[in-house]
Formats: sequence, C-alpha cells, structure tokens
Amino acid sequence: MEDKIRYPEIDTFIEKVLKPETGLLKTMREYARENHVPIVSPETAALLKVLVKLHKPVRILEAGTAIGYSSIVMAQAYPDAVIDTIEIDEDMATIANNNIREVGYENRIRILLGDALEIMQCLTSTFDLIFLDAAKGQYLEYLEHALRLLRPGGLLISDNVLYKGLVACEGTVPHKHRTITVNLREYLNKICNDERLETSVIPIGDGLAVSYKKGDINEKS
Ligand code: SAH
Ligand code: MG
Repeated sequence: MEDKIRYPEIDTFIEKVLKPETGLLKTMREYARENHVPIVSPETAALLKVLVKLHKPVRILEAGTAIGYSSIVMAQAYPDAVIDTIEIDEDMATIANNNIREVGYENRIRILLGDALEIMQCLTSTFDLIFLDAAKGQYLEYLEHALRLLRPGGLLISDNVLYKGLVACEGTVPHKHRTITVNLREYLNKICNDERLETSVIPIGDGLAVSYKKGDINEKS
C-alpha cells in the first residue's frame, strides 16, 4: 500500500543526511528489512535518541521489542537507562535477546515475554519514559496503564500513530486495516485532549506522538 505520510524524496534525503548506522544497529536494520520486521525508521530512531538524551529516563518501559532495535537505541542514548521491554512473540524475543547480549546490555534491557496489556496490568513500579510500539489496535487500552505507570513529568512516546497515512485519510479504509485505524484515531483524540497530557503528533516514520505527563513539581503552570 502506498504510504501517504511522507514525501519519498525528503525521506531519502533525511536518511542520507543522518549519521549512517554502523555495527550491530546496521546489521539489525538490514535483518529487519529482509525479514519485514517493522522497526522504527532511521528518522524516528534519530528523534528517539534526542528525546532520550534530553529527558534522561532512568526507567524505561517499552511495549513491542521485536528484534531489540529501539531498546538498544534508547539504551545507547542514555547509559543510566534501564529498560523493561515487552514482546509476545517468542522467536522475536530470542533474536532480541541475542542482539542485546551481543551489545553487552543484558543487565540493562530485560525482555518480558507475553501480552503487553496483560503485563502492563500487573506492573506497579513507575517509569520515566514509556514507548508504545506493540499492538496498534490496543493503544487505548495501553493508555490507561501508561498513565498510571508514568511519573509526573514523564514522557509517553507512541509509534505508528498515523498508520500508513490511513489515520488521516478521509476515504474508505480497507477492511483489514479498519479497526486499527479507527482505534488509532480515537487514541490520538484522547492523548491530544487529555488534561493530564501535553501532546505533539509528528509525521515522521509511520507517525510518532510525543506526550508529556503534566504534574511535575518543578512545573510552573
Ligand atoms: N519497537 C521495535 C519494533 C516493534 S514491532 C523497534 O522499533 O525496534 C511490534 C512488535 O510488537 C512485534 O515484534 C510484535 O510481535 C509485538 N507485539 C504485537 N502484539 C503484541 C502484544 N499484544 N503484546 C506484546 N507484543 C506485541
Ligand atoms: Mg513502530
């Protein structure tokens, strides 16, 4: 399906102008491309790195590990960060584990095997940053727990919120994408209008929403 979020020539330009990936991250991107694993785009990875460097999250929760690419990007961006990352697919988790071990982050990145919603429901500790990138149709359900688990002043980052451009599309959405699209529209509405959040929706990659949870004691208003 044609991707309606971005201009291909601008994407190509940005990809070229960004610092090229090297080592394991480069190998992981090649593996993802060959095996159709939807890891974050290079532009999204670059933004994720800047956000992590600015925010300095010590505790990160990620829903959707896949091969561990975004976890490793975040761990590299801030050496004090410790990441819990949830993955439902056992084969993916095994690949991610190998990659995490190869880069020497086995003490900083912990994979929780299972359904993101079920695991989030059981978590009680607070996080400085939550990155949602698992089942796109369930972001609304994740939100309730993300808001509970995120500390005031924490960041909620949601990937794929424009979902192939279909979320913003006025025409009929193909049947197989309809539920995800409708749910993501409702999700965006919610995070953009929730009093507890300050949200920015960025047309980068497959669409990234960055939400700040208000209520930090240092905040003036
Ligand atoms: N964050 C990764 C990409 C994640 S792709 C990166 O950018 O590098 C989405 C992943 O979410 C897939 O590996 C998929 O298996 C996993 N997933 C899908 N539904 C899930 C669920 N209900 N619970 C946990 N993980 C899920
Ligand atoms: Mg994604």
